[in-house]
Amino acid sequence: MYSLPKLPYSYDAFVQIIDARTMEIHYTKHHQAYCDKLNAALEQYPELKERDLTNLLSNLSSLPEGIRMAVRNNGGGHYNHTFFWGTLGVDCVDHPSGKLADRINETFGDFESFKKAFHDTGLARFGSGWVWLVKNNEGELSVISTPNQDSPCMENLGVPLLGLDLWEHAYYLHYQNRRTDYINAWWGIVNWFVVEERYNK
Ligand code: MN
Repeated sequence: MYSLPKLPYSYDAFVQIIDARTMEIHYTKHHQAYCDKLNAALEQYPELKERDLTNLLSNLSSLPEGIRMAVRNNGGGHYNHTFFWGTLGVDCVDHPSGKLADRINETFGDFESFKKAFHDTGLARFGSGWVWLVKNNEGELSVISTPNQDSPCMENLGVPLLGLDLWEHAYYLHYQNRRTDYINAWWGIVNWFVVEERYNK
């Protein structure tokens, strides 16, 4: 059975950037629903419970057709949201350092140019989806976007290091249609220490 990760912060931890009501609804309603529906889809298939979620998402075509879309949407939703909560932090430094910082500078020119690429890719996502910073097997970086609750591992798009939820449920109460303001503000709660750890793995 999949379950929600315990959050290491309160719903009002980021009120300057994400209001407490949005945090609470996002976690207790949206994420919970993905998790519940994923569990429901897998209920009849005990053999699939042996495989971890990344394995299921990376091999969707190996799943019974009747649950493939449910696992894609809800397994992706559970994976993406667990990842998202784990990327946020309070009182974090506002930029990466070490090997990740070097690679960002090599790839994008500098940190500000990376942020712009990420921002522009997020704005260009029509409708709901995610924007990601991913690395490939050689440690090379790229910024990509996925629709709906698709995850980078589904299409072998790389290992996610950083991901931003672009669904309106993630920001609408406070930002309404202003996705650009939401993205700009969100940089302020990225836990770069976690992102660096993912890169260095
Ligand atoms: Mn969401």
